[in-house]
Amino acid sequence: MIWYAVWLVMVFVVTGTLVHLVFRHYLEATLAASQRSRATRIAGVARRALDAGHRDLHEAMTTSFAPEATSRFVAVSDANGMALYRSGPPQDQSFDPVLISDSTGKAGTRKLSGTGPGELMLTALQSGDGPRAIWVATGESMVPLLVEQRRFLVFLCIVFGVVGGVALLGGRLLVDRALRPVGELTRSAETITSRNLSERLPEPGSDDEFAELSRALNRMITRLDEAFQHNRRFLDDASHELRTPLTILRAELEALTRETGPGRIRDTAASLLDEVERLGRLVENLFALSRLDAGRTPSEWRRMNLSQLAASTAEQMRLLADDKGLTLKCDSPVRVIVGGGVWIDGDRARLKQVVVNLLDNAFKYTPRGGTVSVSVVETDAGAVLEVADTGIGIPAEALSRVFDRFFRVDLSRSREPEGTGIGLSIVRAICSAHRGRVEVESVEGRGSCFRVILPAAAAPTKSETESLT
Ligand code: ADP
Repeated sequence: MIWYAVWLVMVFVVTGTLVHLVFRHYLEATLAASQRSRATRIAGVARRALDAGHRDLHEAMTTSFAPEATSRFVAVSDANGMALYRSGPPQDQSFDPVLISDSTGKAGTRKLSGTGPGELMLTALQSGDGPRAIWVATGESMVPLLVEQRRFLVFLCIVFGVVGGVALLGGRLLVDRALRPVGELTRSAETITSRNLSERLPEPGSDDEFAELSRALNRMITRLDEAFQHNRRFLDDASHELRTPLTILRAELEALTRETGPGRIRDTAASLLDEVERLGRLVENLFALSRLDAGRTPSEWRRMNLSQLAASTAEQMRLLADDKGLTLKCDSPVRVIVGGGVWIDGDRARLKQVVVNLLDNAFKYTPRGGTVSVSVVETDAGAVLEVADTGIGIPAEALSRVFDRFFRVDLSRSREPEGTGIGLSIVRAICSAHRGRVEVESVEGRGSCFRVILPAAAAPTKSETESLT
């Protein structure tokens, strides 16, 4: 649109300048032609007056041409340049006749400056030959001509302004119309993520470039979908296949640790069991994540009390906190009274996993004697579940990455070897599946606070509550 506007302005400027110059040339040529014919007529009148013996041409000129009244200049001189007649000051004061030099011997039309406010156009010609020859000059100010030109310029500007405005508006409408399919395509493309790769962009019925573009994009989405599915299947199959040997390994190692035998073998078996258990957790997490990615986890969507879920999960994990010498605080009662607490729509099992993962991390990364607190409140942003601890915290540069898969902050910070770097990715995946989000605030050495924000739902009525809880 900007290029189009610049181009239009350039065309108008060039056309306007040309039209203006042509008009000016036309006006000047018309004025010169009328001066020539007037000069010829003046010469005729002067000749007749002189032939009739009137040496003073004054009366003949005033009667026939009235130069002062019509604001024109008229001069007649003989062959030697002696002035026979010179008109007086014009009525409109547009020039001073005294400042106009003698035109004897200077036939033709020319412009004089310095004779008044504007230029003066003067035409001179010779009439007759030899000693009977006379020179006639007539002229007038070019100011009225300039005024005409200016008026025409203003008119041109108005016309071009209106035409330009209409053209730009039309152009804008055309561009909008032409680019509408691109806008629609962009909006549809924005809605396609790794979760809904089975969807396709709308293909316009026409057979133009836009239709071709959306067909090409759809082919690309199909290829992406296949690649994603291939990856998910691989992850799914791999996790599945790994489960069985791990279960067998775990069982064998557990048996070995119970056997009486050399202490070293038992110790080795115990440490191997730890590793196998860690591997087992990793595989389970990967399995859960791949199912979440594919949107395949069976989901039991229903209205549920988030306060109650947080409280009961915290209660179930209290032993773990005691074990680690931590104080666990929860501000929601386990049994919520009718209509109380904060309600949301969601899958209870998955949301419980969110609370478990966050509490598990808080326990893992908070040294003995610390405090972990769980709270659920309803704010303008929605239902907010907060898990805060007074643990080792997360360095500022790692904060943006803690939800990435397999990301773990410097392992040497923690005494806990059991992390897999997947717990928080699962939390984030579950939150987005619930159209919510998870945030973290942390100060290294002072503690962290994880905040899950989910769309809140209305509390159910008494009878609904009974059927839900
Ligand atoms: P992990 O299994 O390693 O805990 P997560 O995905 O749950 O994996 O967490 C990623 C990383 O974020 C952890 O390795 C840890 O460094 C950091 N982190 C998570 N929660 C906390 C917390 N409450 N306090 C300090 N660091 C934490």
